Amino acid sequence: MTPAGSLLVAQNLRKTYGSTPALDGASFSVHPGEIVAVMGPSGSGKSTLLHCLAGIVTPDAGTVSYGGRELSSMSDAERSALRRSDFGFVFQFGQLVPELTCVENVALPLRLDGVRRKEAERTALEWMERLEVGSSAGRRPGEVSGGQGQRVAVARALAASPKVIFADEPTGALDSLNGERVMELLTESARTAGTAVVLVTHEARVAAYSDRDIVVRDGRCLDAEYAV
Ligand code: ADP
Ligand code: MG
Repeated sequence: MTPAGSLLVAQNLRKTYGSTPALDGASFSVHPGEIVAVMGPSGSGKSTLLHCLAGIVTPDAGTVSYGGRELSSMSDAERSALRRSDFGFVFQFGQLVPELTCVENVALPLRLDGVRRKEAERTALEWMERLEVGSSAGRRPGEVSGGQGQRVAVARALAASPKVIFADEPTGALDSLNGERVMELLTESARTAGTAVVLVTHEARVAAYSDRDIVVRDGRCLDAEYAV
């Protein structure tokens, strides 16, 4: 089952930690520009799936292909380069660099890609304004609220114009009002930029922002419509 036109395709992934199967035959695909919500109970394998898709974790069996190329056929250096050039990440607690200002954090992926400081920070600031945190540019992550920090993290994920954003419970640590706004801004910005999003979330409300929902249960992916 390889849906035509998919950007990222995982087939029959298996991953076991000790005697715990985290993934047990999971298959998944996302098209360019598509927003897919990945739901399911805690411990069902959502984060492991996301890490395999992003080439951070190597599955025990099964394949992940990006743009028709198997991640397992690449060297570690090629996979790292691909993550820098094509992927953006947002995690539950932002994971910003505490010593850098917010605008320096957002500019970091561009700087790592060889963009000069001035231009990187100008692009970073544009994204921060779009995410409604332009006024936090000069502050350090410790000096902004959780909701602002997550917006900064979303701006950082989008700033280098990735093809895919991987977001693992990006609003899990926020109250529902902030969470919804971050979700709205993330999906709106991704849509404007034509970025595919793999969005792991607990919140059923996210369905409103996604094109398609899947449920992970016992290490397998089910179409949300049939998973009830
Ligand atoms: P979810 O994100 O849906 O909560 P995870 O993918 O994090 O689920 O975990 C799936 C299963 O794999 C769980 O039983 C979890 O304890 C186990 N697991 C995940 N990562 C590790 C790891 N690095 N070491 C050991 N066990 C892990
Ligand atoms: Mg998880």
